Amino acid sequence: MTEKITRPASMKDVAMHYCPGCGHGLIHRLVCEVIDEIGVREKTIAVAPVGCAVLAYDYWDFDTLEAAHGRTPAVATGIKRVHPDKLVFTYQGDGDLAAIGTSEIIHAGNRGEDISVIFVNNGVYGMTGGQMAPTTLIGQTTATSLYTRRPEKEGYPLKIMEMMAVLPGVVYLERTSVHSPKAVLATKRAIRKSFEIQLDRKGFSMVEVLSPCPTYWGLSPVKSMERIEKEVVKEYPLGTIKDVC
Ligand code: SF4
Repeated sequence: MTEKITRPASMKDVAMHYCPGCGHGLIHRLVCEVIDEIGVREKTIAVAPVGCAVLAYDYWDFDTLEAAHGRTPAVATGIKRVHPDKLVFTYQGDGDLAAIGTSEIIHAGNRGEDISVIFVNNGVYGMTGGQMAPTTLIGQTTATSLYTRRPEKEGYPLKIMEMMAVLPGVVYLERTSVHSPKAVLATKRAIRKSFEIQLDRKGFSMVEVLSPCPTYWGLSPVKSMERIEKEVVKEYPLGTIKDVC
């Protein structure tokens, strides 16, 4: 028996602007597959970030709007409170969520807002030229850490999920990746679980996805996937970080 792979109904049939080998297109597709499978396309409202995924609404064929930089969880909070029957999720990079939006994500989690968050961590500011992000690894060279990230000068990688885990309002946290087929499937399962938690009105959940940025890592798409497996997961271990559902 052969299985025909088709484009999810929730995904527009258009070319994407992402660089070759970028993880965003893959993660966008996983979101669409989950939405189709659980049949919530007509009741989904996504909030897109500022960053490389700023144009997510060009690819998703369900209601999506744009928030100011880092304010994504605050906008999602307002939408969900007005429309408690909708599936509301934010899609944010590490610049949006772990830098300018740190306050918003912490307080949304602390309030136990009934939303889902998809946090795409590639360790750099991709949209604006590959500058150092809070999530940049020690020893990593970026446009603003030419001597690499050094703890004594630039501090340590910020582990947002481990920080969020101490908040009572947060019920589910999982860190996944897209560096292998097995990892991609685990990411899809985690996104689905996060959406189902919200539909069951159990509270705030978040999935962090380790994602490649071949352009600003200065690596090929294949080498970028290898870097995630060999280096990035050592700083950001994969798996469930909190599950009190
Ligand atoms: S700069 Fe990086 S994150 Fe942005 S689209 Fe290109 S590969 Fe993706």
